[in-house]
Amino acid sequence: MNRILHILKRITGVFLITLFVTFLSLTSSAQAANILSMRIGQQVSSVRIVFDSDKAFNYNVFLLSDPKRLVVDAIDCQLKKNLHSDTNNLISSTRVGNLNDSDKRIVFDLKKPALIKKVFTLPPQGTQKWRLVVDLALSSERDFEAKIGTKYAISSSKTQSVSTASNEKKSSSWFSSSSSAKPQSRKKIIVLDPGHGGKDPGAIGAYGKIYEKNITLAMGKELKSQLEKKGYTVYLTRSTDIFIPLRQRVKIAQKYKADLFMSLHADSAPNRNAKGLSIYTLSETASDKEAAALAERENKVDIIGGVDFSEYSKEINDILISLSQTDCRNKSSKFASYMVSEMKKSVKIVSDTHRFAGFAVLKAPDIPSALLEMGYLSNKGEEALLKQSDYRKKLATSAAKAIDKYFSDPEIAALY
Ligand SMILES: [Zn+2]
Repeated sequence: MNRILHILKRITGVFLITLFVTFLSLTSSAQAANILSMRIGQQVSSVRIVFDSDKAFNYNVFLLSDPKRLVVDAIDCQLKKNLHSDTNNLISSTRVGNLNDSDKRIVFDLKKPALIKKVFTLPPQGTQKWRLVVDLALSSERDFEAKIGTKYAISSSKTQSVSTASNEKKSSSWFSSSSSAKPQSRKKIIVLDPGHGGKDPGAIGAYGKIYEKNITLAMGKELKSQLEKKGYTVYLTRSTDIFIPLRQRVKIAQKYKADLFMSLHADSAPNRNAKGLSIYTLSETASDKEAAALAERENKVDIIGGVDFSEYSKEINDILISLSQTDCRNKSSKFASYMVSEMKKSVKIVSDTHRFAGFAVLKAPDIPSALLEMGYLSNKGEEALLKQSDYRKKLATSAAKAIDKYFSDPEIAALY
């Protein structure tokens, strides 16, 4: 009996292996890649086009003149549906045609001369599928004219496996002047900033005598662990009860090259009925008097800590703010709106929407940033809630969802 079982097992094993091999060869041959969608992200003088596909595919990307066009030939590729065509500063229209039975040609009409800076493929990551990324940058008419035609095409070689590294190498050999920046296939980096700490307790609960600095740290740790489970790289500006000046917090975010920075706080107000959660982004002028007063309270921390927050003159502060490009502020606002809509779903006490104020801690000129006031410690009900780890867990879950939505927003995702 045992022998029969043994033989049966062996036969089944061989059979399974055969099946598996057949399955592999079926899926790896023949089937064309499908382009599922196209996204276009715009910076000041450049445009990034991203094709999402279910598989990597080979390509030729080149420029044509009269009229100016960018051509992307997708080899052995099908389109799932019509590509949503976006116009912007650089692209006036998009057309799709059949190059032959198996290959597609996607043509972008250009409003201005441009150069192909980089073309590379990114493997699936998180919710993202395969991506072919084409970076275009505005150029002079002369530079454009010098790169016209298929002989300047950036192509994936059919024998070469389509990988980020090989294409990066290939594209930089075409454009020795192109930046050495690597395509970003890295995990998104988030820096969370638990407000206050050490000698600065922040707001003090009116009833339970709890300190804001402890609530923000507990929330920071909870959100960090939830985000790490989703595959983000997360750093805290502080993970213990220490004092860190506001400027330092911003520098920490810059040091880690954060893609997103969020400062965590809980407010207090003389009016004990005041309650609700709000999310703030940077602005030169506060959206209302309350927001201005809050910014002043939070900013004062540095003076309390013996560090002169006016280390930078008003003038330099203004320059810092203006450096925070409109682009970055728009991203912060976009993130804030995802936060508001997610928080509203799970937390009933949201009374405020997205507000604007001049928080020092949000003045990282190049990192989308927001400040979350989780609620009022001066309100009996909210103080009791914020003390509960279950409640903080719920807040963190909503915040993590908002962060996911932010990074998969077409405009934001196109940048990665
Ligand atoms: Zn605070």
